[in-house]
Amino acid sequence: MNQVNGYLYDPHTHTAETSKCGHLPAAEVVDRYVAKGFTGLVVTDHLHPEYLSRVDTQHNWDAVMDHYLSGYHASKARGDQVGLDVILGAELRFPENDNDYLVYGIDEQWLRSNPYVCCMSAREFFAKFHDQVLIIHAHPYRDGNTVVFEDAVHGSEIINGNPRHDNGNDKALALCRRHPEYYRLAGSDTHQAGDEARSGVILPRRVTDSYAYKALIEHMEFHLWSPENQSFVDADEQMRKERQA
Ligand SMILES: [Zn+2]
Ligand SMILES: [Zn+2]
Repeated sequence: MNQVNGYLYDPHTHTAETSKCGHLPAAEVVDRYVAKGFTGLVVTDHLHPEYLSRVDTQHNWDAVMDHYLSGYHASKARGDQVGLDVILGAELRFPENDNDYLVYGIDEQWLRSNPYVCCMSAREFFAKFHDQVLIIHAHPYRDGNTVVFEDAVHGSEIINGNPRHDNGNDKALALCRRHPEYYRLAGSDTHQAGDEARSGVILPRRVTDSYAYKALIEHMEFHLWSPENQSFVDADEQMRKERQA
């Protein structure tokens, strides 16, 4: 691993407990990040209409959240045992298209008190919540996607590490060049063995909840980390310098 001056966190991971596409149980994900020298991760399991159609058999949002949070709870329990900071996030998708949005700055109560939050549109979600939560477009150009609502996010991943998709990271970087006000993030999008700990953010201090994580991002107190995508890391640093100049 490259020398890291700070604490490594992965803002984009999944658990098998909650995400159908996740193949690693939460505790195993945690153990793998510990082995790779990470300090923490954000659990961003999928919350979208297709998930609801599978899980919401009784039309009971609290029951949906019991299931949804099972991956996070398993991750947090293991993290507490082994000293990895486990933070709650979410990856939302709305009925209008297949765009995915990472959401930070939430807790269990927020999820439980906003039922069917994935059943509006991305623009409605941004209008309603943009001053409460941090909304980051995940892999906006994955697999040739062109439907990007640039006005409905605070930022975008420019490094998405999932190896089974064409993530379009170069197009995402170009998107961020058009929007210098965007927060630019990196994440592994961990779904199965071998995905983990390939990309992330370096934080100046430890954080243990989603609000503290969101605050560090909003204050630009982070740097991107991804040895296999170093040119994107360098581009991010260069864009920061240009903004300060
Ligand atoms: Zn997934
Ligand atoms: Zn994901």
